[in-house]
Amino acid sequence: MSWQAVDPKQQLTTMVEMGGGWVNAHAHIDRSYIINADNWARTNDALATKWDLTDEYKRSASVEEILGHMSMAAEHLLMQGGQALGSFIDCDSVVRDKSLRAAEKLRERYADELEIVFMSQPIKGLSDPVEREWFEHAAEFVDIIGGLPERDGHHDPSLDRSDEHFDTIFGLAGEHDKPLHIHVDQHNTPAQIETERAIAKTREHGYAGRVTLIHCISLAAHPKPYRERIYADLTEQDIGVVTCPTAWIDHRRSETLTPTHNAITPVDEMVKAGIRVAIGTDNIADIYKPFSDGDMWTELRFLLEATHMYDMDTLARIATRSGLEALGLAETRSAIAA
Ligand SMILES: [Zn+2]
Repeated sequence: MSWQAVDPKQQLTTMVEMGGGWVNAHAHIDRSYIINADNWARTNDALATKWDLTDEYKRSASVEEILGHMSMAAEHLLMQGGQALGSFIDCDSVVRDKSLRAAEKLRERYADELEIVFMSQPIKGLSDPVEREWFEHAAEFVDIIGGLPERDGHHDPSLDRSDEHFDTIFGLAGEHDKPLHIHVDQHNTPAQIETERAIAKTREHGYAGRVTLIHCISLAAHPKPYRERIYADLTEQDIGVVTCPTAWIDHRRSETLTPTHNAITPVDEMVKAGIRVAIGTDNIADIYKPFSDGDMWTELRFLLEATHMYDMDTLARIATRSGLEALGLAETRSAIAA
């Protein structure tokens, strides 16, 4: 297709349209649009504190109210020409099954317009038996089992239960024959090796081709030989990745010396290594990301600027086909080979 050099954005968005429209492969729409004047002051709290700060909303919100928040996210994606949406939903002792019930209604409401895929979010961790029970309850409903190993992690090894978290989610996924989406390496520091750990668990549980990792930011803080080894392993295990560019580009300055890089998934290197990379918005208008508006072009623009990736076919694929693959809506390499 020929196009005028004056408007590459229009060319790229047309290519996304030809691919069926945007795929937002990672969000948390059950608690989107909950930022307000009262909770604004908490937007600068630490991540681990924020994990529990949405409890007030989750405790008091009705199924209809949660459905309203979810619908706003769905409407906004449709307005942009979206074709599919993948969202984690919290399933814990605070929100109980309200988000699951809202999710069911959302899927009915948008059945003709938008493919919607749900993952379970263990936001309260899986160490507490009550929380674990809620998470297990959700496993039947969701399309994909979700993970957040960091939630059960601890700097004191005797208190660190993140390994158990990994085993629980892989065990549940196997039991229900469902794929996995796992949040890993969110903190842009070489101290994190969660991508490597997720690869080892994928091997251990024989789950090649069924795992997608969300973020993998810290990978970029490791030296090149380490990154290259991880890329080879990701390719070998056919593990996909979802990048959420604006979600972590806000990382704080630190005095830790690392290879120079932007705080973003190293997508440029991953694509060259043959890894499937999709894109998502992550949180929309909440205490984590108050200004995030769920705009897919903003995400793609941040990605291409932060990684110097200008190849339009690659970018369009990230925004469409790779998202469908990550959500199990299109066949992946290993599925075709099987
Ligand atoms: Zn997330």
